[in-house]
Amino acid sequence: MQANKPIEVILEDKTLDSQLRAIAEKVFLGTRITEQEGLHLFERGELAFVGALANHIREKRHSGHTYFNRNFHIEPTNVCLYTCSFCSYSRLIKKREEGWEYSTEEIMDIVRKYDGEPVTEVHIVGGVLPQYDVEFYSELFRQIKAHRPELHIKALTPVEYHYIFKKAKVSYEEGMQLMKEAGLDSMPGGGAEIFHPEIRDQIAGGKCSGEQWLRIHEIWHELGRRSNATMLYGHIEEYRHRIHHLEELRKLQDKTGGFQTFIPLKFRNKGNQMSHVPESTVIEDLRNYAISRIYLDNFDHIKAYWPMIGREVAQLSLAFGVDDIDGTIDDTTKIYSMAGSEEQSPALSTRELVNLIRRVGRQPIERDTLYNVIQNYTDHVFEEDTAFKGYVSLPVTNKH
Ligand code: SF4
Repeated sequence: MQANKPIEVILEDKTLDSQLRAIAEKVFLGTRITEQEGLHLFERGELAFVGALANHIREKRHSGHTYFNRNFHIEPTNVCLYTCSFCSYSRLIKKREEGWEYSTEEIMDIVRKYDGEPVTEVHIVGGVLPQYDVEFYSELFRQIKAHRPELHIKALTPVEYHYIFKKAKVSYEEGMQLMKEAGLDSMPGGGAEIFHPEIRDQIAGGKCSGEQWLRIHEIWHELGRRSNATMLYGHIEEYRHRIHHLEELRKLQDKTGGFQTFIPLKFRNKGNQMSHVPESTVIEDLRNYAISRIYLDNFDHIKAYWPMIGREVAQLSLAFGVDDIDGTIDDTTKIYSMAGSEEQSPALSTRELVNLIRRVGRQPIERDTLYNVIQNYTDHVFEEDTAFKGYVSLPVTNKH
C-alpha cells in the first residue's frame, strides 16, 4: 500500500511551513531532529506529512519487509501489589481470589503444551507479588531451559526486577547477572508507561521510576543483552511528556545500542480507574507511530501490537513507520482482551498474519527474537490455499 506521498513531493510543496520543511529536509538527509522539532511534529504535523517522512525512513531501512515472530505468552499471575490507574488487568491483593497465581509446575505445563510447535520465544510478564521472587524466577528460567534449551526467554520488566531485587537485597547489577545465569535471554519493553514524574506519579505511582526503568535496561545492555521499549500514550500526558520519554530512550540507545524495538502502546479506558479519560483516535495513533519512527533514529524497529489496535489499523500502521507486527499470539494471553482492546480473541495463525501483511503490499518475514530471519513468506503458498475446496458455483448469466 502506498498511502503516503514520497518525501520528494512533500519537499516541493511551496506552502509548507518553514519548520516542517526543515524537518523534512533533515529526514531526507538522514539527520537527527531535535526535541523542539519533535514537539513541533506532534503539535503541527498532519498525518499525511508525518506518514510520508516515517514511510521514507521505514523503506530506507527495511524496504517492504515486515517482521513477525512466533511466540507464546505466560502470565504467572494477574494479582498485583501495585494499583496503576490505567491497568485493566490486575486484581488487587484483597480480591486475589478473582485472579490466578500459577505455580512453577503449572507454568511448566503451559511450556510443555508447545512441545513440537514451531515457536521460538516465550514471553513472560505479569503482576507483582511477594512469592514471585528472585528464587522463583531463577528456578523457572532454569526449568524452561532444561526442558527446551533453544526457546528464547523474554521475561519480566524493570517493574518486577526492581521489586524482586529490593526484596532479595541485591543490587540491580547483581540481580541482572543472576537472571542472566538462570537463562534469561532478553527483556520485553513493558513498564515504561510515561517516564516523566508529572505523569508517572499519577498513573503508576509506587512502582519503579523512569530513571530506575532506564537504569535496569542499561545494566542489561552492559551485560551484552538486548531489550525492547514501550510508551503508554493517549491518556493524561501532553506531547512534551511523549517527547521527554522518546528523548530518554534515544539518549540511552546512543549510549548502549541495546534496544531493538520501540512499541507504542495505546491507552484503553475499559475496566480501569481511568474510564473517564477518552481514548486517542486512529489518526492520533498513526501520527504517534510515525513521529516515533522519525524521532528514534537509532532504533531499528517500530512494532505494532495488532491485538491492541485491531488488524486493520495494524495494516495501516505499516505505511506509517511500523515494520514489525507482534506475531502469532496465542489465546493464553488475556492482557489485551481484558483491557478492552479491539481483539477479544487475540490469536492469528501464521497464514492469517502473513496474508494480513501481504494484502497491504508488504513482505512478511518470520524472525526470531533477535531479528535473525527464519523464513521469508513473500511468495509462500500455504497448503490450505491449494487444497481442493469443492466446485465453485458460478453465477447464472443465462436462464434459457
Ligand atoms: S500495570 Fe503492571 S504493575 Fe501496574 S497494576 Fe497492572 S500489573 Fe501491576
